[in-house]
Amino acid sequence: MTIVTRFAPSPTGFIHVGSQRTALYNYLFARSRGGKFILRIEDTDRNRHVEGAVENLLETLRTLDLEFDAGPGKEDGNGPYFQSERREIYQKEVDKLLEAGYAYRCFCSPERLESVRKTQREKGLPTSYDGKCREIPPAESRQRASAEAHVIRLKIPDSGVCRFHDIVRGDVKIDWSQVDDQILVKSDGYPTYHLANVVDDHHMKITHIIRGEEWLPSVPKHLFLYRAFGWDAPEMAHLPLLLNTDRSKLSKRQGDVAVEDYLSKGYLPEALNNFLALLGWNPGRKNEIYSMEELIREFDINRITRSGAVFDVKKLNWMNGQYIRKMDRSCYLEEAKKWLDDVNINREKLDTALLAVKTSLSTFRDIPEKLEVFRGGPAKPGPEAKAILEADSSKEVFQAYLGEAEALTGLDAEGFKALMKSVQASTGVKGKHLWMPVRIALTGEMHGPELGYIAEYLGKEENIRRVRKQLEQS
Ligand code: GLU
Repeated sequence: MTIVTRFAPSPTGFIHVGSQRTALYNYLFARSRGGKFILRIEDTDRNRHVEGAVENLLETLRTLDLEFDAGPGKEDGNGPYFQSERREIYQKEVDKLLEAGYAYRCFCSPERLESVRKTQREKGLPTSYDGKCREIPPAESRQRASAEAHVIRLKIPDSGVCRFHDIVRGDVKIDWSQVDDQILVKSDGYPTYHLANVVDDHHMKITHIIRGEEWLPSVPKHLFLYRAFGWDAPEMAHLPLLLNTDRSKLSKRQGDVAVEDYLSKGYLPEALNNFLALLGWNPGRKNEIYSMEELIREFDINRITRSGAVFDVKKLNWMNGQYIRKMDRSCYLEEAKKWLDDVNINREKLDTALLAVKTSLSTFRDIPEKLEVFRGGPAKPGPEAKAILEADSSKEVFQAYLGEAEALTGLDAEGFKALMKSVQASTGVKGKHLWMPVRIALTGEMHGPELGYIAEYLGKEENIRRVRKQLEQS
């Protein structure tokens, strides 16, 4: 059997990180099993139409490298499908349901529905449709349909239990009494999510539905539809929620939720994919850095976890930093140059400065701040740094440094390493006591970009000037 999965976003104008994870898991599962990954735009809610949303969605998926395949009927190109172009298909299918008595027309006005809900709320009951139009005889229903506004509803069983198996959640039971007579076709003639989703999953031969946990309560309606149509239902895997660090549901109030926001802040698509892949799936190994090929190789749908996964930005920052470190010199420099502001930095030595900050970046957006050290003189050392500068061993280091540096013709990052080695040999000072005073003398700071590149950027004369000044002051 060919595995077919799908990503079925509603184009809201941005991609939620939870949706990126859904897309990614569908992609990984399909690719790991030699199957197909289909993109279907669920755009039947005309009130929520957002200009440019589809273009943005396609662009973001391209950036994330989640390439989708052609589905049935789309063999000449690779889609995507748009539900808004498939209304005839839904209409035909829903007619069959009306015919067979699995669905019925409902002529209740919005005012009546509101008053039913109000009474239910007052009695502390869950709000649901009261079934008034269920028993309208088919002939009368057909006759009224041409003249009266109506919706089409699913005739859900009154009692009993809906049981199903979910790959992540195991055996699930939901009482039919908790399930409302779902609207399948709205009064504007557009299908709701539930109808279009089930019809499309069947027509597109989807074998596995992988989506967020918030859709779990909808499963009974969908299974009822599959049964009514006489179709086999795909297998299902409902993914755990993404959580804030306080374990509440991931929300805008506590940070960014749009993939586009992360990309525009200088996170790398590869790092985002890697980070999200591990939020809800446990590869069973300690390693945390996975390329897309490795993710495809390792992904196992049976290892998706049940409990919510914390979206920890600190971890994402760390991971993104790892990806930046791994970039080769030319890719890194090309990308880094997109993130410069108009600060006065010696353009001839820009590459050196950018290479210096490479290992201290979490995201590319940190670049201007990290380059600060190259602008103007060293910062004023704080009390802790001052104490280090005044240590006897630091003075010894400075003296040896000056002696060695003066004998050089120039100073680059490699030369600096060699210089420090000889300073260590002649003074016997090593580790933190060797490196820290030099860092503080050159930059005024205790932490920062790679020292070798800083020394190279400053050049021999400026190195000597800064270290000498420090020696004179201490
Ligand atoms: N259009 C739904 C969404 O936006 C798709 C849910 C599903 O995968 O069935 O999340």
